[in-house]
Amino acid sequence: MSLGQSRSVVSLPTVENAVAGQLGPSARTPGQRIGRGIDYELFLDCVHCGLCTAACPTFLELGTEMDSPRGRIYLMRGVVDGRIPLDDQVRHHLALCLDCRACESACPSGVQYGRLIEPFRAELQEFGLGERWPRWLQALLFQVFPRRRWTWWSLYPVRFFQRVFGLDWWKPLAGMLPNTLRNMLAVLPPLAQRYYRPPAWSPPHGPRRARVAVFLGCVHHVLFPQVNEATVRLLQFQGCEVLVPQRQVCCGALHYHAGHLRAAQQLAQRNVEAFPLDVDAIIVNIAGCGSTLKDYGHVLAGTPCAEQGQAFAAKVRDVHEFLVSLDFYPPGFGLPIQATYHDACHLCHAQQIRQQPRQLLQQIQELKLVPLSESEVCCGAAGSYNLTQPEMAERLGRRKVEQILQTGAQAVFTANTGCLLQIRRYLHEQAPHIWVAHPVEALWVACNGHVPYRGIPVSVPD
Ligand code: SF4
Ligand code: SF4
Repeated sequence: MSLGQSRSVVSLPTVENAVAGQLGPSARTPGQRIGRGIDYELFLDCVHCGLCTAACPTFLELGTEMDSPRGRIYLMRGVVDGRIPLDDQVRHHLALCLDCRACESACPSGVQYGRLIEPFRAELQEFGLGERWPRWLQALLFQVFPRRRWTWWSLYPVRFFQRVFGLDWWKPLAGMLPNTLRNMLAVLPPLAQRYYRPPAWSPPHGPRRARVAVFLGCVHHVLFPQVNEATVRLLQFQGCEVLVPQRQVCCGALHYHAGHLRAAQQLAQRNVEAFPLDVDAIIVNIAGCGSTLKDYGHVLAGTPCAEQGQAFAAKVRDVHEFLVSLDFYPPGFGLPIQATYHDACHLCHAQQIRQQPRQLLQQIQELKLVPLSESEVCCGAAGSYNLTQPEMAERLGRRKVEQILQTGAQAVFTANTGCLLQIRRYLHEQAPHIWVAHPVEALWVACNGHVPYRGIPVSVPD
């Protein structure tokens, strides 16, 4: 149904009154028309039952209807209908959404929330009504970060200061720095001093079981090169011939989620051209990138590359998903530690991958995996969210750390760049000894017996 056609109006006094009460009477006047890119039928899937609210991190923290999925769907639909003006208040409630998709997992009616908020944000950007960030931040997020080499060189001074003065070198200057810059510096892990350049081709160890191509990511590759190195080596160890296409680029997730659709499409097109399709799988170890790569059919819809986008997306596998399907060879070394696992939103909610990382970690001898309460609640990283909404990001980061500390774990594993940064930042304020790592790092340590992190024991089999 297109905008302007007649629509069924759901009369739901509870939600309407709650939202209207919080918005005030001025918000009930007709507003700006927006929403041409949204399939209006998707709004109608929401029966306003409210079962999603308890899963929504912002509702858990604030307890307000407009900061719940149901409230946001109501707001977006009201704006599209012209019943609610798109004022700063409405934009703020929508900007506070992490796009974590926990509401999709919780919704019994199958509401595709991502298909509503993402095109809605894209149109806000298109009409110049989106979030207004400083120019330098926009340049950093959308020009520098998507380029691995630019990111590497932009961090050159930070690498130097970390090496000379330590990880907290910036703290004496904190009062003089703008908030956003201070947040960026606080979240950075110890940076690798060398740039890891994976070989374009690596042979399998032993008989070949599969041929795969590995996606590296952009910021991820610069901040966590050891994760990509462990992934390539682990895949070789598991009998895979590994290709790393050298012309691959950023997946476009940052642009897509911020509503910059054209830029996301250009990046998607370059990846579709860079990756061969005569492989068994395109492997990705980053939850956020993985969900965007699997969505290329949709990202590229309406472009000349739409079909190639679908073919590409059909080949994409999260590394855990792939290793379990390959029948993982159990590692030969043990890790006698207690560990826990945090579900990255774009792995558990967007890709429905929950058991596979746990299954793999449980194959490590002597590693005791303990459950993490609220493991599926977002840690507050959410792409660039910790830069654009630092207050809520911090609340969620600290909430996550409380839960982790209660497990008594010596290690916490999670499979997303933002989660690794966010959890390490707040956890290490209280417990710097806890190992924060990607599951493939632990798996590779247990396969080769080499321990990259001080304090983590490794046991040698008899
Ligand atoms: S999104 Fe789903 S769970 Fe939430 S109110 Fe709508 S129908 Fe209910
Ligand atoms: S995507 Fe996450 S933050 Fe946004 S409404 Fe859904 S559960 Fe809440």
